[in-house]
Amino acid sequence: MASIFSKIINREIPAYIVAEDNNFIAFLDINPLAEGHTLVVPKQEIDYIFELPDQDIAQLFVFAKRVAQSIERVVPCKRIGLSVIGLEVPHSHIHLVPLNAVNDINFAKPKLDFSREQYLALAKKIKDAFK
Ligand code: AMP
Repeated sequence: MASIFSKIINREIPAYIVAEDNNFIAFLDINPLAEGHTLVVPKQEIDYIFELPDQDIAQLFVFAKRVAQSIERVVPCKRIGLSVIGLEVPHSHIHLVPLNAVNDINFAKPKLDFSREQYLALAKKIKDAFK
């Protein structure tokens, strides 16, 4: 069965997409640790990130760098943190989280909640800042 991320990639379910090319997509996490928390996902559905072919994992990180730079242009923060968890969705992905303090990327803390309008506005700003 297709992963929830493949359903987003195939436009079967909606997401707040901030960047996309032929091989990768990035969209806002719907249970964010911080405003701007974004997932960067290869379109090829491989569960474990360290099972991606070398070239694909390298390109994933290069794409994530561009996404991180666009988040930084929009969300005030000290820097963008990066984490790989993968315990919930079996489709490789990188979490990008704007950081001001180390606890901002603590996955055990309660998640934030934003309205649909807030997600849409933020996604548009990050998308517009993507180069
Ligand atoms: P993990 O697999 O442990 O890295 O966690 C998966 C992440 O995907 C969590 O932070 C979820 O909030 C996020 N997530 C799950 N479903 C969606 C969705 N439909 N749109 C955006 N983010 C999602």
